[in-house]
Amino acid sequence: MTNPEEMYVRSKFREHYEKAEVQAPGEIEKREWGVGGWERKIEARHMRMANPQELGGRLVMDAPLFISYSVAYYEFPDMRPMERKNWLGADLVFDLDADHLELPCKNRHGSKWVCEECLNAVKDESIKLIEQFLIPDFGFSKKEIGLNFSGNRGYHIHVTDKSVRELRAYARREIVDYLTGTGIDFNSMGFEWVPVPGRRESKLLGPAPTDPAWQGRIAQLVSKLVSERKLEEVGVSERDARRVYKKSEQFLTSIRSGKWDAVKLDKKELFWRDVVGKLGVKLGDRIDQNVTADASKLIRLPDSLHGESAMLAKKISSIDRFDPLKDAVVFGKQPVRIKIKKAPEFRLGEQTFGPFKDEEKELPEYAALFLLCKKEAVLWKS
Ligand SMILES: [Zn+2]
Repeated sequence: MTNPEEMYVRSKFREHYEKAEVQAPGEIEKREWGVGGWERKIEARHMRMANPQELGGRLVMDAPLFISYSVAYYEFPDMRPMERKNWLGADLVFDLDADHLELPCKNRHGSKWVCEECLNAVKDESIKLIEQFLIPDFGFSKKEIGLNFSGNRGYHIHVTDKSVRELRAYARREIVDYLTGTGIDFNSMGFEWVPVPGRRESKLLGPAPTDPAWQGRIAQLVSKLVSERKLEEVGVSERDARRVYKKSEQFLTSIRSGKWDAVKLDKKELFWRDVVGKLGVKLGDRIDQNVTADASKLIRLPDSLHGESAMLAKKISSIDRFDPLKDAVVFGKQPVRIKIKKAPEFRLGEQTFGPFKDEEKELPEYAALFLLCKKEAVLWKS
């Protein structure tokens, strides 16, 4: 009953897994596994793999279109229902997805496709999570933080430090709230109006970049938004943003000593309240955040293939230089004939393709597989 496209994609995935080395997660025997196919990302779960050799064998034999494992460690990972698995702890995992960022480009290309703009934004967000929060505030070291491309629209961050293992769902939810800045109390962040002696006005004081934790972060992130001229990204109107940019040097200098008054703004406090409310890490809505809060989630195996893109959920050592549209492409260049239904212009590797509409084309294997996996093309036999 398998369709020719799925058979072809699986045969290519199998070829890849025959030569690729995919590293198993730590304590593989305690993880629950799930695999997916053409219809769903998880079609079967509650599986156990005894060791890395079994995993390697399954990848070649079954050539799954998706493969995920539990962030949790269990005594009996293949038992059902969940309670019988006996939960022993879990890694702390974050899923940053371009789709959660609600960028204007999404109106252009929808959820199925990504563009350079949203891939760059989700990369910045991942760097922010690691460098501004996980390392300084939580004290995790770089080597306990695993980072990989999701294979499609974002990044996965795995914290495997033993200190997170036993965190229960409510504690994980609190971590999410802290990172996203949910419930941040503006008044406790060091903002206050101070009367100017001898005059009938007061000045707005606030946090400085050297202040600890969220206070310092507010000053740092606002400074960054101003110097990179990105205030609009946190909902500031163009008009107000221009006002700030005009005086950006003064603003950046005065904020260093906690003075937030260098720029004249209407309803200044409200203005900064709105900005501060949007400075957290964008982890999507409450349901998206369950990847982190739910300690029994399954997460894609790093360095496995993604069945919606034929790209690799590639492990990353240096995110600054990582270009997913090039570095996560693993298939070859031999021409494959396909009939394309519809695709916007997209870049893969060094080359740009499309836009296409109801066309028969010969594309390099990696681009053909990409469109087949998006289900916007079928194999074409002349
Ligand atoms: Zn986009």
